[in-house]
This record gives sequence, C-alpha cells and structure tokens, in this order.
Amino acid sequence: MIFAHQALLSTGWAQDVRLTLIGGCIQKIETDAHAQAGDICVDTLLPALANLHSHTFQRAMAGMTEVRKSGRDSFWTWRDLMYRFMDHLTPDQLEAIAALVFMEMQEAGYASVGEFHYVHHQRGGMRYDALAELSLRVMSAASQSAIGLTHLPVLYTYGGAGQVPLEEGQRRFGNDIEQYNALVEGARTGLSNLPNDAKIGIAPHSLRATSPDDLTAVIAAHKGDQVHIHISEQPKEVRDIQAWLGARPIDWLLSNNDVAANWCLIHATHMTDDETRAMAASGAVAGLCPITEANLGDGPFNGPLYLKSGGAFGIGSDSNVNISLTEELRTLEYSQRLRDGARNVMIVGEGSVGHTLYTGAASGGAQALGRDAGEIAIGKLADLVAINTDSMALCALTQDQILDGLVFAAKDTVVTDQWSAGRHCVRGGRHIARDAITARYRAAVSQLLASI
Ligand SMILES: [Zn+2]
Repeated sequence: MIFAHQALLSTGWAQDVRLTLIGGCIQKIETDAHAQAGDICVDTLLPALANLHSHTFQRAMAGMTEVRKSGRDSFWTWRDLMYRFMDHLTPDQLEAIAALVFMEMQEAGYASVGEFHYVHHQRGGMRYDALAELSLRVMSAASQSAIGLTHLPVLYTYGGAGQVPLEEGQRRFGNDIEQYNALVEGARTGLSNLPNDAKIGIAPHSLRATSPDDLTAVIAAHKGDQVHIHISEQPKEVRDIQAWLGARPIDWLLSNNDVAANWCLIHATHMTDDETRAMAASGAVAGLCPITEANLGDGPFNGPLYLKSGGAFGIGSDSNVNISLTEELRTLEYSQRLRDGARNVMIVGEGSVGHTLYTGAASGGAQALGRDAGEIAIGKLADLVAINTDSMALCALTQDQILDGLVFAAKDTVVTDQWSAGRHCVRGGRHIARDAITARYRAAVSQLLASI
C-alpha cells in the first residue's frame, strides 16, 4: 500500500490518499484515509510519465559532440559522429548503457520508455547468431532497471529518400521487410523474461529510410501494434520527401496511411498549419523531444495550433543528451515562448501551463506506448512518482501551483519514489540497483572509448 499526503487523481487533487496495488495495477483508492503500519508513506503522488522516444546508446556520447569543428555544424554532422561511435558498440556495452539510461529515466520520474531501437547487426552489417540479439539485450537492460518497456525495433532499409542504398555507417541498421518481420518475432520471445506490462511495437524509422510499398507491408504485417516513425524533423528531410513523393512528409503520411491513435509521430517539427490540423485530427500522438530538438537545432513545434485542434502529445528524451523530465517539459514551453515572443503558450484558453503540459504528456505518453496508464485511477497501471513538496522550489506553493512549480522551478531531485507498473524502483531519490548498474556502465563505456 502507498499512503500519500496528497495525490493528483484522475478526478483532481485529493488529501490523505491510500492506494492498494495488485498485479501492477491500482486496485483501490481511499481518500481522507489514515496511514497504516507497513504503508510506504510519501508526500505528493503524481501519475508518472512515459518517456515515449529514446535511443539509449546515444547517452554514452553525451557531451562529446559539443565542439565546433569547422564551418557550420548541423544535425547531419552530428549524425556522422554518432555513426562512428555506434560502429564500435558491442552487445555487452549496449546492454550496460541501456540499463543506466533506463535507471536515470526512473530517477527523473519516468515510469516507462519507448525504446526506438535501430542498431540490429554487427559492424559492417553481419548478422548475430540470434537475429534479435540486440533487442534481447535492450530487454535484459529493462529487466535490470525494472522500467516499463515498449520495445520498438526499427525498420531501416534505405540510406535516403528515393530508396538510396544504405551508407557504410548504416549497415548495422539494415533489414528488408522479411528479415525485419523475423527480427520482430525474435524480439517477441524476449517478452517472456519481462513483466506483462512490456510490449513490442514497430518503428519504420522515417519515410526516407523506407518506401511506400514497404511501409504498407510492414503495417499490414503488424496490424494493431503501436507504430512509431520519425517525421519532419529537418527542413532537408521535408524537401527530399517532397521532391520524391510529391508531398510534404506529414501530408503524404496522412494521405496514404490509416494514421490513428496507435501511431506516434516523432518530432513533427516542420508542419504547415493544414498538416498540423490534420495530424491533430488523426488521433496520433506527437512525440516531442524538446531537449534533443534544441540540441540538434531542429526548430520549435507548431504547439498552439496543434493544441487548439485537440492534438495529443507526449515527450521523449531521444538522444538522451540530458535526461530530465522537468527540463523536457520546460524546454517545450520555452521553445514556444522564444518563437512567439509571448508567455504561457502551450495551453488552450486560460489556466495552468504546468498542469496542461504534465497531464497532457502523461496521457499522450501512455497512449503512445500502449500502456493503460497516464492517470491515477482504479484499474490503471501503477505508474507513479512521488515528489517532495517540502523542497525549496515547491514549499511555498499552493496545491494548484505544484505542477507549475515542478515544471518551471524544480529539478528532478524533487523525485523521492517511483513505481513502474507497481515495481517500486526509486526509493529516497535513488534507484535500488544504482550501484551495480553504474559500475557496469562505467566499465563498458571506458572499454568502448578505448576501442574508438
Ligand atoms: Zn529519434
């Protein structure tokens, strides 16, 4: 049982809340209750967010690509460095890095993650004995940290728009449809080693890395699964797709596929107003990754019109250059303010921006990962986070100001406890497996850096 002095339930704030969990779900909610012997007592309980988009291995190169070499650095020069780094990764290293990153996410207050996993093969493209070896390693990492995993093996067939062959640096990603389907089935066997909230979805990498026919085929082969795709992150990508398919990426995708609530469109940065309205109407989730989008110089999302049109959204840490739930939400709002020269932008009408961002990302993130979570209500998965509202950033705020304080004034250090589908992983601000996971990570990354 969990006893919280206050909790944000699906019906609003409540005092002295006692939750009974069974099988990873919330079975009973009592308000104005009393703590009982054996209860885990916390200060303020919130629904925990899903981190809907991550490439864990990129965490190990955080801080290594912020040096200007010559001319103008861009997304594309960053990508070249990322390819060189990735080329040396071993399965053990990939697993150790993923475990650390999942743990960091939990300490930041996330309960689950959508791992958009595209490194499948050995250096040069040679297959591992088990085709899904690296997917199984990601799953093993999730098992070490006990995070809720939606694993998204990536279909990556071409090196650029127009079915351009893969470049040398992309050989570890490459699969045709048949091999991809076999890989997904191989990954599915790993689910038996994970708790039953774990899932597998599919992730055609981007329109430039697939073809219209392949996209249709892969969606048909995995009907009903979650579908994640990178889209319209960069102006060059928009121009390339327009030249190839005769329409902008989001326009083309919505016109040629049955995009619905099981889809998550990652970034969706460069959209016309018509694309924005149509994407919102599709029911898909916008997978926004504000820290990475700022780091890579992608641009701001068309937020006000998207929200006004009823669009769903969630957040992801993507490159994992900095894993911070509060900063992710804050950067989302600040990117809008800087563009518009205005304050309090990511909200429809009047009210708390922190509340809109936090609860919006909670429900959109859960939708994107196919998790029955995102709010504290009976029957939902117990994806929960407890924060300390006695902390300096929050102690003077009223209940209605807590989420504004969390998003704009606090750091992730206010997180005291975290549960992924009822698994109590963070206690007193520390993940219970922190020491072991960190030691393995340190050894793996030193070995990796020595090999580059
Ligand atoms: Zn990404």
